[in-house]
Amino acid sequence: MYAGWFLAAMLGMGAAEGAVESCATVPCAAGGTKVCEPATAERKVARNVILMIGDGMGSEQVWAAWLYNGSKLNITTLPVTGMSITTSASHGITDSAAGGTAIACGCKAINGQLGLDAKGNAVESLAARMRKAGKATGIVVTKSVTDATPAAFYAHVKSRKDTPAIARALLNAGFDVVAGGGSADFSAEQRAELEKKTRMLELAAAGECEPASRRGDWMPQQVEKALRVLEKDKDGFFLMVEGSRIDMEAHVHHLKEMIMETLDFDRAVGVVLEWMKNHPDTLLVVTADHQTGGLSITNANRETGMVKGEYTTFQHSGVAVPVYAAGVGAERFTGVRENTALAPEIYQAAGMAL
Ligand SMILES: [Zn+2]
Repeated sequence: MYAGWFLAAMLGMGAAEGAVESCATVPCAAGGTKVCEPATAERKVARNVILMIGDGMGSEQVWAAWLYNGSKLNITTLPVTGMSITTSASHGITDSAAGGTAIACGCKAINGQLGLDAKGNAVESLAARMRKAGKATGIVVTKSVTDATPAAFYAHVKSRKDTPAIARALLNAGFDVVAGGGSADFSAEQRAELEKKTRMLELAAAGECEPASRRGDWMPQQVEKALRVLEKDKDGFFLMVEGSRIDMEAHVHHLKEMIMETLDFDRAVGVVLEWMKNHPDTLLVVTADHQTGGLSITNANRETGMVKGEYTTFQHSGVAVPVYAAGVGAERFTGVRENTALAPEIYQAAGMAL
């Protein structure tokens, strides 16, 4: 149905006469994406949406992990693939704040800023709008819960470094599930308040979570627990999961550790796919905010899992990153799109025309 509509649009034909159009758009100072299509009676709606972001996880990171892991990953079994253009409103190379904001809010943003469009207007995130629609919401990450990517889903601040303001924003955001590092970013009173306001709270004691090699199954287990809590909401839920440390290891050119982080993230994807077998009214989208390190795979052996790579920068690179999708509405995530298209496509998939 969607492919047919898309073809019709490409050929310059309008929607069938009398058909009611359904649109999702985000008002942005710069670079929002409007997504429209004719409403159809048989359209299925995703009750639950799970958005998984590998921070810095470009195609190169995925394929390094795939080669190391005996030519298999959960991520690469997802039936729909696309590409996401990562440039920000201010830079050709995005940071995680602008990248996170584009994904979370659907607006191109200025590097370093969170939850604001290019003119500094606050834009509601996927989590906020899903909450308004009655859905439960959660975040599970492997660095501080106040770090740029998760913060893009609840904070509206000019600087990603304004941790006190970001921590306060999280207290008032209304998440049902919060799991990650960063307990030191909150006072004892704030932690107690967050405990009261959430149905599941896991804050690792250190500022950040441990690296994958020392974290064990922490991340896949938190995702499993989060799904069990969130699935109880009769209106469905929105869950954001971030493999936060893939980026860190790529910044310092630790190929093996970066692969361990990517495999940990992939096991969390496996938990979601297993859960989706009994919850087919769910959309899963897996993507990245940007690629980190300009990794290139220079030697590999599929039999032994040997992978060698070279990095070209200690920063992020400017390549488009992959998008993988499964479940209800997954077919929307094909093609090469701006990262600002993810949010309106998710709203459309969830039946939330704006
Ligand atoms: Zn980074």
